[in-house]
Amino acid sequence: MRILNAFLFLVFFLLLTTLTQVGGLVWLAGYGIVRLRIFQKISNKFQRIGFQAGWYLLCTFLIIPSLATIFGRVSLPVGISGPLKPRTLLTVLCNRHYVKPQLRSIVSEHVRRLADAHDGLHINYLDANFPFSLKLPFGYFRKGFPLLPHLSHNDGRKLDIAFVYRDAATGELSGKTPSAIGYGISEEPLPGEYDRPKACRGSASYSFIHDHWPQGAKADHRFDAVITRQMISGFARDRRIEKILLEPHLTQRLSLDQGRVKPVQCGSVRHDDHVHIQI
Ligand SMILES: [Zn+2]
Repeated sequence: MRILNAFLFLVFFLLLTTLTQVGGLVWLAGYGIVRLRIFQKISNKFQRIGFQAGWYLLCTFLIIPSLATIFGRVSLPVGISGPLKPRTLLTVLCNRHYVKPQLRSIVSEHVRRLADAHDGLHINYLDANFPFSLKLPFGYFRKGFPLLPHLSHNDGRKLDIAFVYRDAATGELSGKTPSAIGYGISEEPLPGEYDRPKACRGSASYSFIHDHWPQGAKADHRFDAVITRQMISGFARDRRIEKILLEPHLTQRLSLDQGRVKPVQCGSVRHDDHVHIQI
């Protein structure tokens, strides 16, 4: 029984570490703290779970952001009402919303300009980077702790941003995306557009999220090509932004600069549900 418990403990620790980088350590620290003499009154299981949850939130919203700043990464805005916001609070709870200060100021500048031009606009960010670099001398960790499944999101310089959508029934800006996590429901190629998803059929990773994510909410949302184009062409004109990744059919549909906006390889994941920028 002890071996099984130790195994489950380890699996949970590794899972939290993979998803949140430091969540496993936070949980381990909470596990130790709750057993200190001064917490002896916390004896039953539910109180311990409550303590761990409170400790995790304290670390997520106060301690980790302060430490990350010391080590050169800052949190993107975590409020859900600002012009730049996380698509899902899970991104924040999993510490996946950290970038270099320069990237935050560049993105905030672009979002402010767009929000000034369009009342009620919210730009949803998706996965960014973990709070700490934590370079290790092997494999993908050499350049920093990768934020799976995005192997390149390891240096604080990368950010995924969702497209802009309207509510299909009212035509109003929805502030949301068809998929609850931002990934998985794509703007597919239209007839006559280059069909890269078809060309990449056979790749295990390219359409994995798309193929496994329920597509039912797609009909409730309408892609706003005008504002999405303004957003991405703004990024493309900004020389501080080094790379922009988007599927070719959208680069073509939105008449974007093909020199600046690049396609991804079939071995990556498709970029027709979000745009990737990096400095
Ligand atoms: Zn990305």
